Amino acid sequence: VKGYLSAIEKNAHLNAFNEVFADEAIQRAVEVDARLKKGAAGKLAGMVIAIKDNICYKGHKVSASSKILSNFESIYSATIVERLLSEDAIIIGRCNCDEFAMGAANETSYYGPVKNYADNTKVSGGSSGGSAVAVQAGMCHAAIGTDTGGSVRQPAAFCGTVGFKPTYGRISRHGLIAYASSFDQAGPITNSVEDAALLLEVMAGADDYDSTSSSQPVPTYAANLQKPTGKKKIAYLQESISSPGVDKDLKNVLTATIDKLRADGHTVTPIAFDYLDYLVPAYYVLVTAEASSNLSRYDGVHYGYRSPQATDLMSTYKRSRSEGFGKEVKRRIMLGTFVLSAGYYDAYYAKAQKVRRLIQDKTAQIFEEYDFILMPTAPGPAYDLGNVEADPVVSYLADIFTVQASLTGVPAISLPVGNNADGLPLGLQLLAKHFNEQELLNFSKYFV
Ligand code: GLN
Repeated sequence: VKGYLSAIEKNAHLNAFNEVFADEAIQRAVEVDARLKKGAAGKLAGMVIAIKDNICYKGHKVSASSKILSNFESIYSATIVERLLSEDAIIIGRCNCDEFAMGAANETSYYGPVKNYADNTKVSGGSSGGSAVAVQAGMCHAAIGTDTGGSVRQPAAFCGTVGFKPTYGRISRHGLIAYASSFDQAGPITNSVEDAALLLEVMAGADDYDSTSSSQPVPTYAANLQKPTGKKKIAYLQESISSPGVDKDLKNVLTATIDKLRADGHTVTPIAFDYLDYLVPAYYVLVTAEASSNLSRYDGVHYGYRSPQATDLMSTYKRSRSEGFGKEVKRRIMLGTFVLSAGYYDAYYAKAQKVRRLIQDKTAQIFEEYDFILMPTAPGPAYDLGNVEADPVVSYLADIFTVQASLTGVPAISLPVGNNADGLPLGLQLLAKHFNEQELLNFSKYFV
């Protein structure tokens, strides 16, 4: 713990943490150590973990990197936090992220952007940017992020770490600050596939507090982890190699990977995904709709920031929300309210739901024939800080490769596959069938 605390101090300029629980972590390490000596410690004994600041931890602040929750303290712990603690994990702090997890560069945070450890002029990715950099820079052993449309996988790719989004419902969402409830899923950001498997095993499983959590039994993912033996059938997106929007170095890595897979006897087939152009629009219509509804609870009355300027109920709502939310969050609330409004509902929200179904059907069809889908995690490596604000749509479009797994709920993992010429990490992504986490983790061992 002390080693990680000094790394956190040394790297304070990266802005990865919103708060460090230094004394508490040291105290807990002493307790865990005592249990270890008695031979009675849990599976995660000694694992020092950072959590994204949208995951509730009893008695600790949780801000979602928003002014509106900047002084809010949680009165209960998320189910995943309880499960991590019950296996003797040591939680070292809460990590910076995009405000309410809305973003892809960690630049919408009330607490300022997170810098990439590989190059401090580049973004960390987002929205779990702090979590990814905390692992990248050795400020913790592993971190927990949340992934609505790529927020675990894309920052993991930008930071050269492993990022894993399980099947929707595999992990309870109880105690995660909701962004888009039919998409949100927590996941580990780690240095290895082994750590991802172990953390998944601890966090996964049914929960009475989340009716969408699955009651499927949880395998011992870590113990079962082994290099894949049989020959696999892999589909890859043709566009991820042919599209001019994809980074050259990334294309080279993808091509070399495909060649190697084929040389090793796997079947690798290019496929065209007819709905590629509809992934991002369907995603943004649906998540903004859900977000506008989820964020209506921040009204200046129940909890969170209340404007000192407020005089009556309406001005409490208006001023508290106007002053408490940042620009990107407001943009999404307005967009979501618009697509849900009478007169536009059918044209946008209902239409996007139909498109989501088509995307789900088509993806399921691919998995009838193939074991995995392979594609980049993001179109390129981490980009310069300070560019997102200029045109948010450009950054929305860059979510093209991560949102398919989110719209369909299938598990997906981002794996570090080397650096580009400038030393920036590159990430490859693998998608599998619903609840095929074990197969996905095992096959990941082929790459890293
Ligand atoms: N970049 C995507 C968005 O802004 C994904 C964010 C996330 O997964 N939380 O919605």
